[in-house]
Amino acid sequence: MKTVNIMDVPFLHTDQSSFVSLIDQHIQSKQKTFVITANPEIVMKAQEDSSFKQYIDKATYVTADGIGIVIGAKLLNDPLPERVTGYDTMIQLLEKANEHHYSVYLLGAQKETLEKTKANIAKDYPNVSIVGSHDGFFDWDDNHIAEEINELKPDMTFVALGVPRQEKWIAENIDRFTHGIFMGIGGSFDVIAG
Ligand code: UDP
Repeated sequence: MKTVNIMDVPFLHTDQSSFVSLIDQHIQSKQKTFVITANPEIVMKAQEDSSFKQYIDKATYVTADGIGIVIGAKLLNDPLPERVTGYDTMIQLLEKANEHHYSVYLLGAQKETLEKTKANIAKDYPNVSIVGSHDGFFDWDDNHIAEEINELKPDMTFVALGVPRQEKWIAENIDRFTHGIFMGIGGSFDVIAG
């Protein structure tokens, strides 16, 4: 698939709706997928921190999360169609999940925010099965969350630990999982919780 390189980060040449369709195909074919929706802060961090760059290199797809990336691509004479943000991708994937009865695991945020997020998803997307969740304040070396995800095998796991923790957590654990979509979504639970 065509990518546009910005400071050594390969951005997928796609628009929001095509990207969600692509991820949906991966869910249906049970193809494990790691998505990073990267903003300029992530690109800068990849420049400065080689271990963070290694997490990015593990991603299946990196999308342009922010107008700064779209403008950067244009300046390099290799334009990207539009922004493909974490929040919009999550919401559109929840719509697909509602349509196809997919299962979801939610990792991250404060306990109270997480509970509200779960309640709002259950209300707005009644066919989505929330198979498990854990708040975002846990001992990093405790493997039980990854083990639980491995047993539950959710179609999608949304990870809201903020940058760079969410990318680090997915990159460090993805090899354990057999299938599913794994995606860092920053403060999106806070938005969904209202
Ligand atoms: N968060 C978390 N664990 C942490 C740090 C942050 O679960 O150790 C959650 C935080 O509660 C919020 C989300 O990560 O729901 C995004 O945090 P922040 O706004 O700091 O990250 P950013 O959106 O700037 O990447």
